[in-house]
Amino acid sequence: MNSEGRNQILRRGVSGVPPYDDNNIFAKILRGEIPNRTVYEDEWALAFHDINPQAPVHILVIPKGKYVSFADFSDTASDAEITGLIRAIGHVARMLGYEASGYRLLSNMGPDSHQEVPHLHVHLFAGRPLGPMLVT
Ligand code: 5GP
Repeated sequence: MNSEGRNQILRRGVSGVPPYDDNNIFAKILRGEIPNRTVYEDEWALAFHDINPQAPVHILVIPKGKYVSFADFSDTASDAEITGLIRAIGHVARMLGYEASGYRLLSNMGPDSHQEVPHLHVHLFAGRPLGPMLVT
């Protein structure tokens, strides 16, 4: 399959996600309408403490652009936006000093994953042994 055919399939998949909601809580955080405890910010991403931490360290890293899911982001974001988010996540992990002890990245997408906030985000958990990957 050529790349245009692949892109058409990807776009059809992306069209399955809801349109971006400008009133979602992370959009409000990005606009400064709701306070947050920022740990890192650059042109592409914002990282801040989760309001309801599930581990001693629970950080959310979000792109500044309007993306709902990973499929949406990987299909429609620019290379610079994608690189920016990935570098920001790595930067936060190094900055907080969890390279040696370890940490977990997790991203929920859609109803089966219980995604609550429809703005793409990556959770970073650290600070204790994190247990099995999935709790059934
Ligand atoms: P999800 O279930 O969508 O993967 O995760 C959403 C996360 O956002 C949850 O862990 C929740 O605690 C966090 N959250 C929801 N509202 C706020 C808020 O207003 N501020 C912050 N810092 N985190 C929030």
